[in-house]
Amino acid sequence: MPDKAPFSITFWGVRGSIPTPGQDTLVYGGETTCLEVRIDDRLIIVDCGSGARGLGNHMLDRGDGHADVLFTHTHLDHIIGLPFFAPAFAAGMKITCHAGHLGGDGHTLRRILERVMSPPVFPVAIDVLKACTFRAFTAGETLRVAGGVEVDTIALNHPDGATGYRFRSDGRTLCIITDHEHGNPEIDAAVMEFVRDADVMVYDATYTPEEYEHVVGWGHSTWTECVRVAGLANVTTPVLFHHEPYRTDEDLDRIKQEVERCHSGALVARQGMVLEIG
Ligand SMILES: [Zn+2]
Ligand SMILES: [Zn+2]
Repeated sequence: MPDKAPFSITFWGVRGSIPTPGQDTLVYGGETTCLEVRIDDRLIIVDCGSGARGLGNHMLDRGDGHADVLFTHTHLDHIIGLPFFAPAFAAGMKITCHAGHLGGDGHTLRRILERVMSPPVFPVAIDVLKACTFRAFTAGETLRVAGGVEVDTIALNHPDGATGYRFRSDGRTLCIITDHEHGNPEIDAAVMEFVRDADVMVYDATYTPEEYEHVVGWGHSTWTECVRVAGLANVTTPVLFHHEPYRTDEDLDRIKQEVERCHSGALVARQGMVLEIG
């Protein structure tokens, strides 16, 4: 049997809403969402939150020539790193950006990013992102990116919409479900099928169950829902993700202990963490 192709995910940003540098977040990290998925020699990035700055520098060091960026959606915490993502400006790079929650075409995604990268909000206009092209799809489609990698997509329950992703390689599966709120029976059932038997499921665990009672409708889920879905869908490794900005390392350590009691394979996402899939 030939060896399976390398398949990994690296967490460059794990925080939701706003970057949270400081003494209280040194262990789990303060950058907002950015994930690097590598399948064989293909590179796919999910979101360009503030963590994208570190990933971009790493890509230039490695000599990566191109990448596809799949945006879960365009809330600020998921795009704010794009103006600081060095490969987007670099000569010879090719960055294809995709979004599935907007309808319209690639111009729609470009126009939304343009709102952030426009003087006087930002000193240079989006035209400086010479390496970037913009594509649209409809959540639910299967994409073909990075020269042939198939990625399944699903519409999530989030204000203004969001898209979940499923990557497959040699019988191994990685799912990314953020930003998403449980509670819509139809979407919940679809998500349950989407993540079934996944090796790794990165899941929106912004809130504790106690906090959630006060923020129903805000578009995020809980760590208890993450392990519940993982248990019912036979997920091997659920990963709590999109940490609430005021959550300290101490808080996350406490949640880690609780979550491990509920699901022996569960992990709490930490900036810099690398997981091999399967
Ligand atoms: Zn978010
Ligand atoms: Zn959001």
